[in-house]
Amino acid sequence: MTLVLIIEDEAQLARAMQINLRAHGYQAITAGFGADGLKMAAQHPVDIVVLDLGLPDMDGVDVIRGIRGWSSVPVIVLSARHASEDKVDALDAGADDYVTKPFGLDELLARLRAASRRSPAQREAPTVETADFVVDLAARKVVRDGHEIRLTPTEWNILELLVRNAGKLVSQQQLLTQVWGQAYAKETQYLRVYLAQLRRKLEQDPAKPRHLHTEAGMGYRFDP
Ligand code: CA
Repeated sequence: MTLVLIIEDEAQLARAMQINLRAHGYQAITAGFGADGLKMAAQHPVDIVVLDLGLPDMDGVDVIRGIRGWSSVPVIVLSARHASEDKVDALDAGADDYVTKPFGLDELLARLRAASRRSPAQREAPTVETADFVVDLAARKVVRDGHEIRLTPTEWNILELLVRNAGKLVSQQQLLTQVWGQAYAKETQYLRVYLAQLRRKLEQDPAKPRHLHTEAGMGYRFDP
């Protein structure tokens, strides 16, 4: 089933979309703030994002940039704003499609169908194997020698974001805003603490990590 994440601060509209999408065979989850939306996009196997550009805590265009930092999930932007600059900004930031409010349900459903045709394999959550452990993104667990390694939800969220970006630098700010939220963008000491915990649990030699690398002052990188 196609999982749609609706990021929309107008609660009635979000609820109406959720009910209607469910009635049309979609799974739908909602977030009322941009920071929550980013977190949910990182935590759930989302197939399509429907994003309102006018959110209370952050500009929708920044939400697109945040998602595009690590995901190619289709993003359909909703906006009451008619200015073409907003549309251009959103598309430049990586939005796939654009619906102007007010819109009819039929129009939204048509855009969703088009978006799901463009992302056939989006939902397959892979298993990532390293020499030391296996990360099962679908089951949300880590296994070594047949035994599950217990992670806290925060440890898992960090690991998942790094694993989904395997081989790429994930910035400190991206980790902090997507795992903890926008208000925590500068709390880099959290990352040091949690990465040390993850290395103790996952690395053969936590002092010489093979998989969870620090790029000093920049961020972190996962190598399988
Ligand atoms: Ca709004």
